[in-house]
Amino acid sequence: MAKDKLETILPKPSLLPASKKLLGKALLIWFGERKRDLPWRKTRDPFAIWVSEIMLQQTQVATVIPYFERFLKTFPTIEALASADEQEVLSHWQGLGYYRRARHMHQAAKIIVSDFGGAFPANIDDLSILPGLGRYTRNAILSQAFDARLPILEANTKRVLARLFALVQDIDSSAGNKFLWEAAEEVLPESDIGAFNQAMMELGSLVCTVTHPKCGSCPLSPFCIAKRSDLVSELPIKKKKVVVTQVRELATVLVNRKKILLGKRPAGQRWAGLWEVPHDTPCEGDPEAKALGIISRKFASLVSKKFHEIGEVVHPVTRFKITVKVFMGEVSGKGSSDYYEELAWVGLSEMEKYPKSSPQSKIIAMAVKALELKKEV
Ligand code: SF4
Repeated sequence: MAKDKLETILPKPSLLPASKKLLGKALLIWFGERKRDLPWRKTRDPFAIWVSEIMLQQTQVATVIPYFERFLKTFPTIEALASADEQEVLSHWQGLGYYRRARHMHQAAKIIVSDFGGAFPANIDDLSILPGLGRYTRNAILSQAFDARLPILEANTKRVLARLFALVQDIDSSAGNKFLWEAAEEVLPESDIGAFNQAMMELGSLVCTVTHPKCGSCPLSPFCIAKRSDLVSELPIKKKKVVVTQVRELATVLVNRKKILLGKRPAGQRWAGLWEVPHDTPCEGDPEAKALGIISRKFASLVSKKFHEIGEVVHPVTRFKITVKVFMGEVSGKGSSDYYEELAWVGLSEMEKYPKSSPQSKIIAMAVKALELKKEV
């Protein structure tokens, strides 16, 4: 049978009312006893929950905790965030990556202040006009802050539900995704929706894990079709992983009177608004010395008589592994750029004031160290 035909005949996930009640109860009891003590679980403030949800996208819980606490200390209210300078917001995001999340939050805070008088919108329609809030995030905030009866679906709950209902379909296919959203709605209890949604995520991260799920201590095991059918190790079904492509880049740290040239990335680009040293992929076959001259001229209209290598930084971006060889060279002149929004000559002690992406933070830290060592000689 054709695959698209197969997708259209996926059954709806369903539970008997009695099972639904027992499942909700069992999961909430387990959550009450086993949940991790996380700062965003101590509040029903939609602003704080929103901050936590955005930070937790693509980022580990342990990494987020200190960022969450610092962010709320600096921006304790929506008004405080809305009136902050974008550079200040990005500085507080430095190291978390995926900076578009911070920019969207900042824009959304401004809209909440201008269109909703600073009160966090408590319904789907109003939340939908804010940038950076997809279905999962909207439902997570509304269910946790206002106990709205809305399901959630993210990596952990996808895995739990795919096993619970034994979904023998790619969980990332459109049919698989539709099935899982319906499943997430089907299992919702009558009340305590916010706690229930968090409990599903917690179960996925602590018990129904990717490898070695602990079915023996799982509160959902009496209801789990994968367990009953001996399919746990086969599920969930996911399409094959993408192949990682290696990319080689060269970065030029341009130095003039102990100051380093930084460029501010233009709007609409990845890492827009963040600062960096000029870098690029060299043309195939170009010797390094020639490529470095091309890069520094292209981005800063400057060239150094001599570049010397100071190190290497490796960072992954989606399906790419980028290796950046970092070179430093003295230049004279201020430079200019058709690419960067702004150029700044920055002294070593001033570097912290300029928000940077995490690979650029590493490159610039390396450059600062090299210059400090030079000073000591
Ligand atoms: S019984 Fe096992 S597979 Fe089923 S939900 Fe629990 S941990 Fe996951």
